[in-house]
Amino acid sequence: EREQLKGLRKLPAVTRDNTAVALQANLELPRDLDHALENGAQGIGLLRTEFLFMNRDQLPDEDEQYTVLRSIVEGMGGRTVTARTMDVGGEKLAGWMAGRYGEPANPALGLRAVRLGLREPKLLETQLAAMLRAGVHGPLRILLPMICSVAEVQRVREMMGQVARRLRRRGVPIADPLPPVGVMVEVPGAALSADALAYAADFFSIGTNDLTQYTLAIDRGDEQVASLYDPLHPAVLRLIQFTIEAALRARIPVSVCGEIAGDSRYTALLLGLGVRDLSMVPPAIPLVKRRIRKLDLQEATRRARVIMDQSDSGRIAALLDDFNTVD
Ligand code: PEP
Ligand code: MG
Repeated sequence: EREQLKGLRKLPAVTRDNTAVALQANLELPRDLDHALENGAQGIGLLRTEFLFMNRDQLPDEDEQYTVLRSIVEGMGGRTVTARTMDVGGEKLAGWMAGRYGEPANPALGLRAVRLGLREPKLLETQLAAMLRAGVHGPLRILLPMICSVAEVQRVREMMGQVARRLRRRGVPIADPLPPVGVMVEVPGAALSADALAYAADFFSIGTNDLTQYTLAIDRGDEQVASLYDPLHPAVLRLIQFTIEAALRARIPVSVCGEIAGDSRYTALLLGLGVRDLSMVPPAIPLVKRRIRKLDLQEATRRARVIMDQSDSGRIAALLDDFNTVD
């Protein structure tokens, strides 16, 4: 089995009826880069830059961030790196935040991710500057976490424009053209605004971990309610579907980067809903690729339609299981 998966590394991720799917890696730490390459990742679909901000007292300056990002961009040898601005806050609480803002009453609904970056512009400006500079060394896209509104995207874009002008004035080389700016769709309000957001964003990445948490009001880390955490809940699936359709209509790329993207049980459904780009933990890539190579996309599309008519997630899981075993 191991050998068989290894053999898949060089084979393309195409369905039996010849549709190609991009399989990318989620990276939490720079040292995972080798695993991404070993497993045949076509790019980094989600670089969680939180590691730069956690477990330390001193925040990283622009040069430190630039150096780390540059090594990842160069390490990917021409494959695109999607760098997400820091998603600090929520369950990823950094010690220095408590010092500044106290303990949040409800971290998941508090000052987190892009909200923190807009509250502390220096923080986000520094990170955007490092990203613009790293983009000189290979293809890089910028991804914004926890976006809720078009206005937030516009504010970050303005900030990026200012940062770019400042760097150019100083003669610092930056990506030209400026990197695409994408939106994480991981809050139900964002998913329901996907049609508007699709015009403000250059691409979407659907974060099903948070989308499930916030749609069902289930803390993703709380063991007491873990059995209720269900990405196959019809409400979650409808938000995913609505988001994909908005992206396809606006002709912007859309990928899925939550844990379900790396679980081959869900592959047929995601493809059937129109996704052609999945980002996952590196070791999942060969497993998902094997599923894709056995899959008939036309059939998956038909079955996705049947699934989207169901009201019960147990039934949905059974339909998926059924398809995964016969196919
Ligand atoms: C998500 O929420 O699905 C996601 C990919 O982001 P994170 O897990 O880093 O919150
Ligand atoms: Mg998230």
